[in-house]
Amino acid sequence: MTEDEARKRQIHYPPVPNGIDYLRDVIDRLARSSGEPSERDLKYAVLHLQAAAEVLLKARLREEHWSLVISKAEKTNLKKFEKGEFESTTNTETVRRLVEVVGLDISVDDKKTLLDLATTRNQLQHWGITEEANAVLTRAADVLDFLIRFLDQHLLPHLDADDEEAVADDLEEIRTGLVRIESYVASRMERLKESDLKGHEGRTVHCPDCQQLALIVDGVTNSCRFCPRDWTDPLELASAYDNAFGYSPAPGDPYEETLVDCPDCETPTLVLEAETVASDGSRIPLCFNCAEVQNDLWECMRCGRLYNPTDEESICSDCFSDLG
Ligand SMILES: [Zn+2]
Ligand SMILES: [Zn+2]
Ligand SMILES: [Zn+2]
Repeated sequence: MTEDEARKRQIHYPPVPNGIDYLRDVIDRLARSSGEPSERDLKYAVLHLQAAAEVLLKARLREEHWSLVISKAEKTNLKKFEKGEFESTTNTETVRRLVEVVGLDISVDDKKTLLDLATTRNQLQHWGITEEANAVLTRAADVLDFLIRFLDQHLLPHLDADDEEAVADDLEEIRTGLVRIESYVASRMERLKESDLKGHEGRTVHCPDCQQLALIVDGVTNSCRFCPRDWTDPLELASAYDNAFGYSPAPGDPYEETLVDCPDCETPTLVLEAETVASDGSRIPLCFNCAEVQNDLWECMRCGRLYNPTDEESICSDCFSDLG
């Protein structure tokens, strides 16, 4: 092997098996065939999932050119890179470079999944585990699903035969482990639909933590039956929900507020684009504080606020008394 070939090989080889090794650890912790994952398992699963995502995404950047994994290419050279003396790109920048420099297609949903994971990891490092086991499981399943697709499309085809054989067993464990996690989520949701969630279809929305359609809005405990977790602060829930599932304008479209004051309880907890089990895919205005679906809202001709008309009047009651 010439020096140049040796260098290329060294740069090419380690990251992919290393990333797969992290994923294997995540599966061993989360998809146990017996017993629930412990708090320690959840903690290391999140940390190692984030590490795997970072290593694997950067492996693809490295394949394009080593300088792409460095945050400021003008401040480095190959020698420093080989010794590991460089500042690596941030998660957001890594994804941006994959899309805009390398030209890969990464969907909006996948991007969001990756950024959510990075947030969970940071929270964990600063505050310890705050999420319930089931929320970690569903998020981990989304990230695993993305990383397996990413490996299949962008990394595995470039491995040489030796590397491919070295990772084959781990990959199989990872794929079956993911199926086990997904079927756990699906069967638990089936059971909830027939029990806890029954009769509450009109007020059951997606939970911002676990993403499952399992949170019953009642304005008091607002509890997600899947996590399980309560959201006793309706303001916190409404803004978490709106951030996670609200309208995000297409490039060029004007931004429109989808979280507004509720005309009934006068709290900024009216989510205009809520989706419930009963709404069956369409978006409806639901107040997360008074737990009412506000289907008959009109927009005040004078001040532009939403209100409940009592007698087909065209301005809100505030404006009405204002005008005397
Ligand atoms: Zn939940
Ligand atoms: Zn309200
Ligand atoms: Zn008005």
